[in-house]
Amino acid sequence: MINSTSPEFQRLKERLDISVAFSERYEKSLAICYLRITALPKQQKGETTGNLSDWFQSEVDSLIRNIDTLEKVNNTDFILILTDITENECEVVLSRIIGTLNKLELKPMQRVTFGANIGVCMFPYGSAQKGNLVQFAKKQMEEAVINNRAISMYRPNKNEDEIRQSIIRNDLPAALQNNQLSVVFQPQLQLNTKKIIGMEALIRWQHPALGKISPVEFIPYAEAKGLLDSLFQWVFEEICKKIEKLKNYNISINLSVNQLLSSGLELFITNMADKYEVDLSRITLEITEEIGLYSSNKVLKRIKNLKLLGIKLALDDFGKGYFSFADFINFPVDIVKLDKSFVTSLASNSHLKKAILPIIQMAHFLGFKVVVEGIEEYRQLIDWEELKCDIVQGFFISKPLTLDEFIVDISKIEHRVNGLL
Ligand code: C2E
Ligand code: MG
Ligand code: MG
Repeated sequence: MINSTSPEFQRLKERLDISVAFSERYEKSLAICYLRITALPKQQKGETTGNLSDWFQSEVDSLIRNIDTLEKVNNTDFILILTDITENECEVVLSRIIGTLNKLELKPMQRVTFGANIGVCMFPYGSAQKGNLVQFAKKQMEEAVINNRAISMYRPNKNEDEIRQSIIRNDLPAALQNNQLSVVFQPQLQLNTKKIIGMEALIRWQHPALGKISPVEFIPYAEAKGLLDSLFQWVFEEICKKIEKLKNYNISINLSVNQLLSSGLELFITNMADKYEVDLSRITLEITEEIGLYSSNKVLKRIKNLKLLGIKLALDDFGKGYFSFADFINFPVDIVKLDKSFVTSLASNSHLKKAILPIIQMAHFLGFKVVVEGIEEYRQLIDWEELKCDIVQGFFISKPLTLDEFIVDISKIEHRVNGLL
């Protein structure tokens, strides 16, 4: 039996702390699974459970990766930590584990059948707090037993979700005034020179009670509350204040389509540039390709005006599907930023390389630079270098950094990547 002073418990706690830290640092999800082996009543307890749990431990060890952890709680219960895994992938791994159990016949003549009830808590997910992950998973396993299900995923109940959403909605306006927002910078590496040439500015919200809230979660509320303009203006001014410290690097700032069309945009930008003496040719505005859905004359005029100020324009998350071929040819942007999904698809299907190459060649032919984001592995870096992509961005090069981290780490990052290319 595992208890809080046992070496097994300490080992489990350490592994869990490391996995949670990894998950937070690299923005990857993690699954904490509580497994209970079950057997039909024919099983003669005492006689088989000891052997069974040893056998089970070695079977599962062969199904999981080195970075995963399996710890025995007692003869029937186990805790499994799966690092860097999505909910779907987790279900696949768990189904395999159940499959091996189902096949097991300890006493062929008696045909004893084994199975498992597994409770899963994904991190980060909903409001599950770091300290309670194992308890959530165990509670979920008990739910699985009651409902006679093999796998049961913890889902924050609707109420908790609604409470969280209403906190986010209500507190967002004050976040701007209360200094809860910050900007982090994700380096961008130019492949032909092997130099970091710029960065993408990404907004962060540290909520006093809820902790870090992703922009993916709060930007839609900001939009619904008409706060996107203030948010953009805040980010833009932050960058203007800091740009001097960022030497000659280019800085990309995200802009939603509605803001691109909002009336005072050029005036605001020129005022900021005058106030902080900013060379606007160092700034790129990233707009998502939904822009293709908007009235093109108005959009084109705005883009041309911004370009007259010296600003560059990038089409963000390109390839998600809104943009038509004609838009692609006619849009006067400078950069096409391929969506992360291209990187994931290429990793799982190498034939796609042949299909992606002409897209990149066409973008080059039209005078665009091609950036790809979401590079997470060495192999992906090499693939996109072979595809003649111009600039890469992703966790493999660097996670988003604070300004101070950026300044300190930049030469280390360049040195490391140069050693690999
Ligand atoms: P985006 O502009 O496409 O930004 C890239 C997102 O991918 C960022 O998430 C970044 O942290 C993440 N990312 C970077 N490298 C990797 C990687 O290797 N793998 C994976 N899986 N992800 C990676 P983040 O910071 O959570 O931002 C999400 C989205 O929120 C952004 O997508 C952008 O659309 C929006 N956003 C962020 N900051 C702002 C802002 O200041 N204004 C506006 N309007 N939107 C923003
Ligand atoms: Mg972006
Ligand atoms: Mg993007």
